Amino acid sequence: MGQKSIRLGLGDLRLISVSRSSTGWVIGAQGQDRAACPRCRTLSHSRHSFYRRRVRDLPIQGVPVLIDLKVSRWRCRNVGCEGKIFVERLPRVASAHARKSERLAEIVRLLGHAAGGRPAERLASRLGLVASRDTVLRHLKRSVSWSGGDSQLRVVGIDDWAWRKGHSYGTIVVDLERRNVVDVLPDRSAASIEAWLRNHPRIEFIARDRDGLYADGAKRGAPQAGQIADRFHIVQNLRVSIERQLSRLERPIRGAMPVASSGQDSSRDDEQRSEKPARQIRLAGRDVQQRLFHKVRSMYEDGGTASAIALELGLHRRIVGKWIRLEALPERNRMTPKDSTPSRFHIFLERRWAEGFRNVRGLLREVQVLGYTGCYSRLAAFLSAWRRPAKVENPSSEIPATFGVMPCDPDSGSAISPIVAAALCLQPRRLLTRRQLAKVEVLKEASPDFVRMRALAMQFRGVLRGGRADKLEDWIRDAKSSGVYAMQRFAQTIQRDIAAIRNAVVTPWSNGQTEGQINRLKALKRAMYGRAGAELLRARILPIATTS
Ligand SMILES: [Zn+2]
Repeated sequence: MGQKSIRLGLGDLRLISVSRSSTGWVIGAQGQDRAACPRCRTLSHSRHSFYRRRVRDLPIQGVPVLIDLKVSRWRCRNVGCEGKIFVERLPRVASAHARKSERLAEIVRLLGHAAGGRPAERLASRLGLVASRDTVLRHLKRSVSWSGGDSQLRVVGIDDWAWRKGHSYGTIVVDLERRNVVDVLPDRSAASIEAWLRNHPRIEFIARDRDGLYADGAKRGAPQAGQIADRFHIVQNLRVSIERQLSRLERPIRGAMPVASSGQDSSRDDEQRSEKPARQIRLAGRDVQQRLFHKVRSMYEDGGTASAIALELGLHRRIVGKWIRLEALPERNRMTPKDSTPSRFHIFLERRWAEGFRNVRGLLREVQVLGYTGCYSRLAAFLSAWRRPAKVENPSSEIPATFGVMPCDPDSGSAISPIVAAALCLQPRRLLTRRQLAKVEVLKEASPDFVRMRALAMQFRGVLRGGRADKLEDWIRDAKSSGVYAMQRFAQTIQRDIAAIRNAVVTPWSNGQTEGQINRLKALKRAMYGRAGAELLRARILPIATTS
């Protein structure tokens, strides 16, 4: 086989020579004996001159390849044409000033998209592709700015994600039909989502959480689109409403009694993003933690699922999920409060408090058993914050008490906390464990209000999945006339956002998928360490356009 007959697979290029340099193969190549003028399309055979251009190409068996191109300048012989001399185009080889062939650049982009800058650099060098990390990232960013073909975009989910938890947030937009990330915005504001939506005037539905910010932005930026309240968040609102009534607190006292987020919507397949439970656990005493840990382990070994254990113990599912994979609790870090700090025994104290045990002297004895080394007055000061009535528009005394005292769990003998009771109130019967079912029976026996609450909660879940707007209207009417405070309150809340709630009932879309994409984004962000600028993060999470 003669050299001339080797095909380069690079359009019209002809092979002239092949030689080996110290860094790899050098392939001499040039174009055809004629070229078309880009202005008038007249074919020219009249070469003016050559110049040389070097382009990196795909490696041969792991050895880097450099194409030494002889590029021709041609004379245009068409007298009517304004162009006198033109340079031949090699569109299938490389773009105008590129130092990499088109096909090499694409591989580099794909590597960068899949693996990120540094791993892509290592992988590339192993494969004989010469590309530094910065080159990889540059190619990747450039490729994303091209891909704007989202004219088919019809249904989007919008949610926020944390750059730094509690400090700064960005916004993610997901195509709910194609299950793609459409865009990542560097901030979280009504104005930026409004601007983004104005550029996408064909969007028909926007799924968003209960946060008013995206609702406002969507209303202004896409007045043509219907909004969809996220079903998971609606159910969470209902749970909070029930929990408030069960604990006779209109609103938890800020900083003192965080609301634990137990009880997951069974339809939800990813984690809740609240940070509070982790903080609760951290603040709990080491001994309390240790005991909870062993409890979780033993329930897990008895065949309990993470969500069932979480519900049972009033713990966050994420913590349970983490613990069931551990053999032992990791050593505590330096940030853990000291044994002399009452907040270390926060969880324990909070539970006793909810059970109605509020005597400081008695609580002091109990936490001392758990290892508290601080003094009486410090504990008293800590607890006094819980005694202060919360300043709220609707004082807790107006909320009717459902229970005189919280009924006892028939298994453990201790009082069922309002948090657990609220979660159980929302859990369908078929998803209850035997022990949970026993608790539900006790709660129902103790209060006819709880019975009504649970019946309405189950109906509401049915309405959410049932696809019928008229059932929603019926439910709101029933809730308002039920005489159950939590349900009346919740009915009022959803009426304020009724169009979006109705869409949640009648359309199949929900933001569950968006939250899944946020988890993907977080994983990418972690893998990129400090280099994750908004632009790069966006480049890695958006689907990449390929030629094939
Ligand atoms: Zn011409």
